[in-house]
Amino acid sequence: AASRLAGKTVLITGASSGIGKATAYLFAEASGGEVTLVLTARRVAVLDSIKADIEAKYPKTKVFPIGLDVSKLAEIDSFVENLPEGAKDIDVLVNNAGMVHGTEQVGEILQADIDIMFQTNVFGLIALTQKIIPIFKAKGKGDIVNLGSIAGREPYPGGAIYCATKAAVKSFTETLRKELIATRIRIIEVDPGQVETEFSVVRFRGDKSKADAVYKGVEPLIAEDIAEVIVFAVSRRENTIIADTLVFPNHQA
Ligand code: NDP
Repeated sequence: AASRLAGKTVLITGASSGIGKATAYLFAEASGGEVTLVLTARRVAVLDSIKADIEAKYPKTKVFPIGLDVSKLAEIDSFVENLPEGAKDIDVLVNNAGMVHGTEQVGEILQADIDIMFQTNVFGLIALTQKIIPIFKAKGKGDIVNLGSIAGREPYPGGAIYCATKAAVKSFTETLRKELIATRIRIIEVDPGQVETEFSVVRFRGDKSKADAVYKGVEPLIAEDIAEVIVFAVSRRENTIIADTLVFPNHQA
């Protein structure tokens, strides 16, 4: 499958950590180093060090680290319009940036948390997809991988907003796939269960000990497990769509 990835330009949101970062490394490895990576997140300094590391390991891989806050719709417009030379010809979009904030139940949820979760997980994903779809339609092909969650299928108390954002991602993704069926634009959704990343630290507002407690006595997935599914889906033959995949650690069944 390396030859199917060679020469592609892959845009990943939320590439500074966890699943997005692991996916960047795996595209470099699985393509034999023959990819261009456009890595975005808010923490550009982190992306700069990832660029240095990937380009040292894979000398033929070109990495473009670009600051992008997907919760700010105006940034998305100017980001796509100002993609640098060498990074414009996107073949694969991985809509990975996402977050959860807080564990409050309905009635106690902070409006600011509602706003940021929807802005990041839903409005940002939709806005970036809207900008990329015309590029893919003009080329007649392309891949979009959206990160949903088990939370979008099985809501849980204390997660009303996060679960609703991921259910929205699922509905949006399925609609888009149906709109584009019979084209060579593939719409792929990957729904992780529990993966140990910075995700839980963000959920507990930076409280690392509460985040660590989530994984006590269980064996969560690691980011690379999800990266493998994303890269596998994108490296299938062009008429093969791995449409919707739920991946969870075996304790979470
Ligand atoms: P991490 O917290 O480790 O990584 C999240 C990434 O998203 C970071 O790179 C962060 O970068 C970026 N991000 C957050 N907010 C924004 C924003 N406003 N604009 C741009 N980038 C942003 O979490 P994961 O790797 O675990 O999460 C990746 C995806 O997987 C998310 O969509 C999440 O919902 C989903 N998921 C995760 C699960 C888990 O158990 N970990 C389970 C199911 C789904 P920066 O802070 O630099 O902007």
